[in-house]
Amino acid sequence: MLFIIYTTGRCNLNCSYCGGSFDPRIVPWNVEYTLDDLKNVVGRDDVIAFYGGEPLLNLKFIEEVMDNLSASRWVIQTNGLLLHTMDKSYLHRIDTILVSLDGRSRLTDKNRGRGVYEKVIENIKKIRREGYRGDIVARMTITEDSDIYQDVKHLLLTDLFNHIHWQLSFIWTRPWRNLWGWIEEYKIGLARLMNEWINRLREGFVDGIAPFQGVLKRIIEDGPFPPCGSGAGSFTILTDGRVVSCPIAVSEEWSQIGSLKKISREELESRRNVIHEPCISCSYLKICGVRCLYTHIERLWGEEGVEAVCSCSKYLIDLVKENLEEIKSAVSEIGLELRDLAYPEYNNTVEIMP
Ligand code: SF4
Ligand code: SF4
Repeated sequence: MLFIIYTTGRCNLNCSYCGGSFDPRIVPWNVEYTLDDLKNVVGRDDVIAFYGGEPLLNLKFIEEVMDNLSASRWVIQTNGLLLHTMDKSYLHRIDTILVSLDGRSRLTDKNRGRGVYEKVIENIKKIRREGYRGDIVARMTITEDSDIYQDVKHLLLTDLFNHIHWQLSFIWTRPWRNLWGWIEEYKIGLARLMNEWINRLREGFVDGIAPFQGVLKRIIEDGPFPPCGSGAGSFTILTDGRVVSCPIAVSEEWSQIGSLKKISREELESRRNVIHEPCISCSYLKICGVRCLYTHIERLWGEEGVEAVCSCSKYLIDLVKENLEEIKSAVSEIGLELRDLAYPEYNNTVEIMP
């Protein structure tokens, strides 16, 4: 099971697609439950992911959790600005660090604030220099200003990240000006990335493009609905001790599960999500897995939003499937199997479907 633990509702950035810190009446900025409460539901085989707000603003709580609980894996989703403040004895125990960057520096700074790109890259270089060997994932938010080919390539070429992952900001923001025109460009960019990815495989390099590798994993192994596991294998613990299905859905009624003090482990283990149309009748369901529980329920852009995300998801799935034989032949040339490309190995909060 994956537990996403908010360490604070506070953030030190105010990104254009997010809005910065939570209202402390909704997500308090300090943790209001005890470690014993946490131990009631979290077991030693679970994955613990620190989240926020900016989780590193509450380093003390992260250290307390890591000192007092056992987890099979540790994960953090951070904006990267405070990575250098984490003591190596804790940092080096983190298995996956997801760092928010949107691609090229101008785009990242436009969305996240001036100078953010440079500072975050500097911090990643520093932790690498000082011996961090874990999985660093560049977690991109894709907006109408993104060029998927250019921005993914840019991050790959920095040679700092084991994996690149992205999420489309559809529905979270104002409707896009040229949604369908952008989607056509996105598909062309994805096809170009796929071509180059296969060529690189033939040369013996596995570029960590998480959505390609995640779809491969779903083709090989199935997986939960939604692929991120929200509400069925992945649960989020807010600072006030509320347990919710999805880390983004902190107030939505459908996401509320109960309080950490009262909920039982058995209750969480037996939870399944209810799936609605159009996914029930969709031939892509097994791999797409409804893509995202939040968008499946909150259809903020109405029917057009559903069509837009589905069009992108179906294109990605078809792209991987159409190239499956090519990918197989490329990996066999370098002595690997298809399953060696599958990612993530465990639920590390990479949601798979962008
Ligand atoms: S492609 Fe769309 S309709 Fe099909 S399973 Fe995914 S989200 Fe549901
Ligand atoms: S993919 Fe959707 S359901 Fe899953 S964590 Fe993200 S917002 Fe929540």
